[in-house]
Amino acid sequence: MTGSETDHIRWMRHALTLAQRAWDEGEVPVGAVLVYQGQVIGEGWNRPIGHHDPTAHAEMMALRQGGIVLQNYRLLDTTLYVTLEPCVMCAGAMVHSRIGQLIYGASDVKTGAAGSLMDVLGHPGMNHKVSVAGGVLAQECAGLLSDFFRMRRQVHKANKQAARQQSEDQ
Ligand SMILES: [Zn+2]
Repeated sequence: MTGSETDHIRWMRHALTLAQRAWDEGEVPVGAVLVYQGQVIGEGWNRPIGHHDPTAHAEMMALRQGGIVLQNYRLLDTTLYVTLEPCVMCAGAMVHSRIGQLIYGASDVKTGAAGSLMDVLGHPGMNHKVSVAGGVLAQECAGLLSDFFRMRRQVHKANKQAARQQSEDQ
């Protein structure tokens, strides 16, 4: 990992506040921040539902914004902070954009492409190497996701009960 531990924690906290925005919009809470020379040049939170866009993951949004800020699709020497291990699509976008470093929070055993399900970023055949570190504020990042899914299950259950009650009343 390059950069100080305190910096990584600070930026991951920032990514967590963006993940909270996704939650507020009813999206799975994942947030991402792109940092260049100590400054934020891209922010993203997961919003595929709201944008009707399967590619609208937090990382993609942050990378797109970073490209506009730098006026370059090559995001050399940037660090991307994301609360959850990226999927295959986002890991691929990181290679295309030539970011320098990825720091993620929680691992994603089901779809993670930084070593959990597969290792896109560490693949020996890749023409660009992204330095990767995970586990920064992992508990907070994973906790936000599990709280969200628990809340959603409760809402789903309550809706089902209300519907049943309604049909019994008729
Ligand atoms: Zn993704």
